[in-house]
Amino acid sequence: MNHLRGHAEAAATEDGLGHFKRLRGRTADEITRRLIRAIFEHRLPPSTRITEDKLSRTFGVSRTLARQATSQLCEMGVFVKKPNHSCIVAHPSREEAQALIDARRMIEPELIRQIVRSASKADLQLLDEHLALEQGARLNGDRSRLIRLTGEFHLKLAQLARNPYLASFVMQLQVLTCLAILVHTDGEAGCPRDDHEDIVEKIRQRDADGAVLQMLKHLQHIELDLHQNDVHPDRQLEETFRWLAGETELD
Ligand SMILES: [Zn+2]
Repeated sequence: MNHLRGHAEAAATEDGLGHFKRLRGRTADEITRRLIRAIFEHRLPPSTRITEDKLSRTFGVSRTLARQATSQLCEMGVFVKKPNHSCIVAHPSREEAQALIDARRMIEPELIRQIVRSASKADLQLLDEHLALEQGARLNGDRSRLIRLTGEFHLKLAQLARNPYLASFVMQLQVLTCLAILVHTDGEAGCPRDDHEDIVEKIRQRDADGAVLQMLKHLQHIELDLHQNDVHPDRQLEETFRWLAGETELD
């Protein structure tokens, strides 16, 4: 579980501001983080075929390291093993997408209840800062960044509950939800506007029941969006691999 915990922290704290320049794929963990971030930004769509060879060339590392990174992602269910040292990015079915939302519904409302009890002033400030980043990305029309930030909002909440097991579990569910959204949503991806603000407002008011209700409403919005059978996202993969290799500046 340790590496999952690390990714939960990394994904929730990286703001992209040059941080990835230092982290650029040199260890298996770093490669895994970069791939997760690519998924969070919807750069790496479901069913994309990934080979150890391609990863080792992209990141300039040995195949052993590339294999370690893909194994970590297979363990999370984010990649699915295929023959010939290759994997594909998971392509959640409708049933799997529903199971993800069901699991989130069992976890995130209770997590919110705990945050209402324990949130410090600093925690609330952290959430406000995050909402401001989301708003900024929305205003700038920066879609990839907005999608990532809305996903990371949930990771931030999980971290504020200060339970590392929950944080890694939410991380896993969140990455897979990202993929499910790509397969089953045809409209604007990312969390619906205003939902996060409403949740934070209830936390600020120390209204546990109200916060739980807002979270349930929010999960229902996400669930209602997952209504398509299979949407094929149009993405230039060469661009993604250049981004993974760090040739494209972040943010
Ligand atoms: Zn959300």
